[in-house]
Amino acid sequence: MEIKSYPNGVFGATTYLVYDKESKEGVLIDCTCAVDEILNFIKQQNINLKYILITHGHFDHVYCLAEFKEKFPQIQVLMHKDDMPLLNQVANQCSMTGVEEIKVPCIDALINDDTKNLKIGNSEIKVIHTKGHSKGGVCYLIGDNLFSGDTLFKASIGRCDLFGGDIKEIEQSIKEKLFKLDDNITVYPGHGDKTTIGYEKKFNPYFGSNY
Ligand SMILES: [Zn+2]
Repeated sequence: MEIKSYPNGVFGATTYLVYDKESKEGVLIDCTCAVDEILNFIKQQNINLKYILITHGHFDHVYCLAEFKEKFPQIQVLMHKDDMPLLNQVANQCSMTGVEEIKVPCIDALINDDTKNLKIGNSEIKVIHTKGHSKGGVCYLIGDNLFSGDTLFKASIGRCDLFGGDIKEIEQSIKEKLFKLDDNITVYPGHGDKTTIGYEKKFNPYFGSNY
């Protein structure tokens, strides 16, 4: 699996392009920056982009979604239904943070833990609902790679003081869902450096070393 990071979104939000070298099928995880660069790369490499997988409805993770969709209208955008109220407030989120307002992006399909048949090449994409940073936040597991949005960061966790946030829920999501995954899984967060599940179980200050 090939993974390219575009970390220059608003507030350092990262867009990931994930694709299978053989089948050339790929997905974007969030859509926050580098639209032309990504589109050029996709064309050059002949990548068949299947979906844009949104981790959650905060504006910094969907900042370029409308622009991307305009240039690439056939792409399907997927998100969890519980973040629709958050996404519908994108204009408010922008004005509260002093960022230029964006159009509300369009979501083509809603996903949850039971979603099946999302694939790139032979690799299944597993949806893991991890509420806590927001009600409808999800992580996407593709092979040994977890795209954790704003749920789990390297040695940190997502903030819980925004709309729909809940510290108990995020701790539960991480302990009961993410820390049950293999230690060797690489974690690609929505902001900042990558890490692994094993590293976070040992060193994440929010959890001690009881895992
Ligand atoms: Zn967020």
